Amino acid sequence: MHSDPSSTTRVLYLAGWGRSGSTLAERLLDQVPGLVGVGEIKFLWERGLLQNRRCSCGTPLRSCEFWVDVLGETFGGLPDDATARALDAASRRFRTRHLPGLLLKPASPPDADAMLWYYQTLERLYRAVARVSGAEVVVDSSKFPSYLTALLQGPALDVRVAHIVRDPRAVAYSWQRHRADPDAPGDAQMPRMHPGATALYWSAWNLATERIATRTDRPYLRFRYEDLIADPAGTLAAITKLSGVPAAALPLGDRGEVFVPRTHQVSGNPMRFHTGPVALRLDDEWTTGMATRHRYLTGAVTVPLRHRYGYH
Ligand SMILES: [Zn+2]
Repeated sequence: MHSDPSSTTRVLYLAGWGRSGSTLAERLLDQVPGLVGVGEIKFLWERGLLQNRRCSCGTPLRSCEFWVDVLGETFGGLPDDATARALDAASRRFRTRHLPGLLLKPASPPDADAMLWYYQTLERLYRAVARVSGAEVVVDSSKFPSYLTALLQGPALDVRVAHIVRDPRAVAYSWQRHRADPDAPGDAQMPRMHPGATALYWSAWNLATERIATRTDRPYLRFRYEDLIADPAGTLAAITKLSGVPAAALPLGDRGEVFVPRTHQVSGNPMRFHTGPVALRLDDEWTTGMATRHRYLTGAVTVPLRHRYGYH
């Protein structure tokens, strides 16, 4: 059920399993007039407010002028720690990582009445993001299928789902690599995962995303990371159409690079801190760097979804 469009906030939800290229996709979408990419909102309360981690503009979130304005409009000032903790606890109920939970009950929200305050806070938050940024559409790259169900509970949010997928062997390879995590405190590393586990998650996560979007009859578009790199203009035009804003040319440079200015994304891949030209180059290091046994394992576990997505 949709309310009067003038009172709704349009949200483009970037869904997909981790390391599939959603941060890049979001940064490109942020360059489309009418769209604003604000990162993984599900982590706003914990990593943003409570831990005061850096926004992609480089400023700790509690001092970032964009988020101070957004939170000011939502709460009348920065919310206190108790409020932030309550919101984080509510968000955690929509951060299912359990495989059975993803596959069996992905679309059942917890007790609706008790969560009403949370859904209404989300409605106010996304509305404030749209108002402060001046954008028509808020791009949220939270990715979790479970968090998508939280957004779908707010009648004032007009949610459309852009689902990014990437070759599971490339994804599994990315999860194997050692990389520093500039986002986390101390000398933390990005989390790693065995290719067998990645393959299971890749399948369950993508299936759950498809299922929620189609069961709830929301505008839905699946796109491949590889196509975004090969044809950024065409892929972004399709996503822009899904968002309901007029098509606009993406500022692509002579070598197919995109100039990315300072943004205000909460959490996400460390590449969100980079500003300036971003080259759209296919990261296919897995084809040479991945152990053969891992490649076969990942390939075997992800059939038949992998074939349906066109990865042979
Ligand atoms: Zn910022």
